[in-house]
Amino acid sequence: MTDKEICPITDILAKSFPQKDAHGSISMPVYITAAFEFETAEAMEDAFLGKSGKHTYTRISNPTVEAFEARVQAASGAKHVMAVASGMAAISSVFMTIASAGSNIVTSPHLFGNTFSLFLFTLKEFGVEVRFCNLLDIKEVEKQIDENTCAVFTEIITNPHMEVADLTALAKLAHQKGVPLIADSTIVPWTAFKASDFGVDIEVVSGTKYISGGATSIGGLILDYQTFDWRQSKKLNSLAKKTGERAFQIKFRGEIGRNMGAVMAPQTAFLQNLGLETVDLRFREAGRNCLELARFLQGLPKIKSVNYNGLPSDPFYEISKKQFGDYPGAMLTFSLEDRAACFAFVNRVKIIRRATNLFDNKSLIIHPESTIYGTLTPEYKKIVEVPDNMLRLSVGLENVEDLKADILQALN
Ligand SMILES: *Cc1c(COP(=O)(O)O)cnc(C)c1O
Repeated sequence: MTDKEICPITDILAKSFPQKDAHGSISMPVYITAAFEFETAEAMEDAFLGKSGKHTYTRISNPTVEAFEARVQAASGAKHVMAVASGMAAISSVFMTIASAGSNIVTSPHLFGNTFSLFLFTLKEFGVEVRFCNLLDIKEVEKQIDENTCAVFTEIITNPHMEVADLTALAKLAHQKGVPLIADSTIVPWTAFKASDFGVDIEVVSGTKYISGGATSIGGLILDYQTFDWRQSKKLNSLAKKTGERAFQIKFRGEIGRNMGAVMAPQTAFLQNLGLETVDLRFREAGRNCLELARFLQGLPKIKSVNYNGLPSDPFYEISKKQFGDYPGAMLTFSLEDRAACFAFVNRVKIIRRATNLFDNKSLIIHPESTIYGTLTPEYKKIVEVPDNMLRLSVGLENVEDLKADILQALN
């Protein structure tokens, strides 16, 4: 089995901080401060007008956060990177930047629970409509896009349904219609998935997952590839006429980011930078464990079905391999007889932890229907289609034989 070509980890490690530390510290210094001082009123004016590139206030920018953003840029090939407080801050900030009352977002109903809630409830109250459709059916997507569509949004592997849309085809359609493609790529890090190769214009990531290096912190990232012509955007049109492909970046940096205030803390940037240094190693190891467990679960009579895109029997195997290589994340789902069997399994595991979250170093199990989607009314549960006999397993770095033994004892 060959691993897909990746961004060598040395590219990330070799990328030094934008400015050398005064003391030559080899670890990223953490600037835990709210404000930065100046020698003169003139220097202060220059900094506030963005002429000197100097930091003024940590809600606007911070050296530690900036260094982390520079490294993510090296790892991903994005033109501009914006670190924010959480994955949800990344997604909500993107739509604060490009949507206005009357806009619509074309997406699948199969979304991470809080993204579903953001689109369906939060943005709706600001006059933004969400149009759910099957992103696997390009004709259906085409019918949903109109002159008020501000974006096509997709998760690269839907969680927990594990569907994989053809990103190249989606991007082609979106671009023909003058709409950007925005993708949530939380589930596969940049070392294995290059969003720009498949036409994604803006990528959002929950840094809480792989990047944090083992569930150390909550964080989010917005990666701007500057491939979209924002003159086609109703909201960014006039700005784009002046600033070209940097319109999104300028709108975010100059207005939305500072006004929403959902910044990444410098302490978080330190932790997530450290996580970034080992992300490829952890991802491959967890991916290998996940593939092996998926095969193992397939062979167990009590398991009704297993969903993992890395299994050759999976309906998305080919497209997944093309887009993500051998390891489409380290999360799988499987179904048991019923909800009671799921609860009994969850109650019996000993090594696997009962917790939400993805891509901790530890394996985590959750029953999504009763937890992440638990507060949805039956009407909305019908839209998200999360079955109640399904469990989600995020596979960690434990010895895979220990995980198999834990699964076997929990089933019996
Ligand atoms: C966890 C997650 C989010 C939200 O990220 P937070 O950092 O928890 O805000 C968004 N999308 C996906 C696919 C996720 O798994």
